[in-house]
Amino acid sequence: MNDELLRRLPSVDELLRSGALKDALALCSHAVIVEAAQETLSAIRAEISSNGRSEVSLQEIIALTQERINAVMRPSVKRVINATGAVLHTNMGRAVLSRSAADAAALVARNHTNLELDVETGERGLRDYHVDGLLKRLTGAEAACVVNNNAAAVFITLNTLAAGLNPLRGKEVIISRGELVEIGGSFRLHEIINKSGCVLKEVGAANRTHPHDYARAITPQTALLFKAHKSNFTVAGFTAEVGLKELVAIGRANGLPVVEDLGSGSLVDLSAYGLPKEPVVGERLLAGADIVTFSGDKLLGGPQAGLICGKKELIRRINENPLKRVLRADKLTIAALEATLILYLNKEKLSQTLPSLKYMTRTVDELDMAAQKAAALLKAALGDGFIVTVEDSESVVGGGSMPGHKLPTKVVAITHEEMPGVEPLRAARIYRMFLASDPPIVGRVNNGSFLLDMRTVDNPEDVVIRKN
Ligand SMILES: *Cc1c(COP(=O)(O)O)cnc(C)c1O
Repeated sequence: MNDELLRRLPSVDELLRSGALKDALALCSHAVIVEAAQETLSAIRAEISSNGRSEVSLQEIIALTQERINAVMRPSVKRVINATGAVLHTNMGRAVLSRSAADAAALVARNHTNLELDVETGERGLRDYHVDGLLKRLTGAEAACVVNNNAAAVFITLNTLAAGLNPLRGKEVIISRGELVEIGGSFRLHEIINKSGCVLKEVGAANRTHPHDYARAITPQTALLFKAHKSNFTVAGFTAEVGLKELVAIGRANGLPVVEDLGSGSLVDLSAYGLPKEPVVGERLLAGADIVTFSGDKLLGGPQAGLICGKKELIRRINENPLKRVLRADKLTIAALEATLILYLNKEKLSQTLPSLKYMTRTVDELDMAAQKAAALLKAALGDGFIVTVEDSESVVGGGSMPGHKLPTKVVAITHEEMPGVEPLRAARIYRMFLASDPPIVGRVNNGSFLLDMRTVDNPEDVVIRKN
């Protein structure tokens, strides 16, 4: 019986000759169709042999082949609706770009550009030139440069200043045990320090580090003093940290540069927008840091990038490190970053023009209105069996920014009714149901309820489940 079915399966040639896959040729090459047909047939063969599939029609084979073709032709990267409330969610691409930044990236993507061409002289230019003027203006730094991300910024800074490239200095980098951060698993400061060719010298204890801890650790082998912002955690209780100013004083007294990894460093004082204060790059430089590094796609609200601001002589050396070529930012990043920095020249409008700041500064009233609208749409769309309510909740900023700080928000809570004889859908099931929408809607599960946080949702209609 199985053998009979196997024998009757069409060959790839027969499938192609049937003409049913002709339309696919407009989408993709012949070879892709052949491969999809082969894969479909071997999957069916395996099913017949293993689980005794007892029938299969030509139509079904063609439909399955078509599905395979569609699946390979469909881009894997897609839009998702972020209803988690986390404004800078690393799994969802961190900052949403402003319109002007997205337009700038699209323009250079589709055209040739003056990326490394000085159009006034016709000579070769430098790609960082397009942003270093703005960075200097916005932070007061003497000089600035750009690499792929902040991990790369830390890496190249340490490699340049502390890996023995400077014959006058050793390789030791002194850092407090309280600041050896891990960012999202793949970035652990001590691993980056070791990989960059330096020698890590930890001082102090996890909760307390004192000025004399640094002073005592300094030897002729010391290359620099390093400070990292505790961007994704807080230390409470019996704690002591050496402030930047104190650290700079120790550095100056010993002729050592002070490098600070700010992580999410901001270009503006967020308390002006009613948010908790995060370190401001310009203020850290003013306090004496010789180099400050930070991310482009965290609080800055731009593309993935690592910004390095500080002393001219140090930036010059970083730029001359061959690793700069390895870690250089691409044209899409440079264009989007420049457009994002230009928005900072109009701080008064920033909470409207910069999406991440717009999300962070949404008022509870605004969020309530959006949640009520979404709840009404969802009630109608989900039908019987679901309970849809609007509730108070809290969003986090995410992306290693404002640890421990919660922004009051409004969420749509969805639960499933308890009905006699019917197993209610649990929150995790509802979560997956929304994920299966097109585009996927990502909510969060909290205390057995499924929640849609409206803070990061542009339109209430966006959270209504859609199939295509
Ligand atoms: C986020 C962060 C990093 C890594 O930055 P990426 O831009 O993700 O590479 C490094 N250090 C600190 C303190 C951070 O918060």
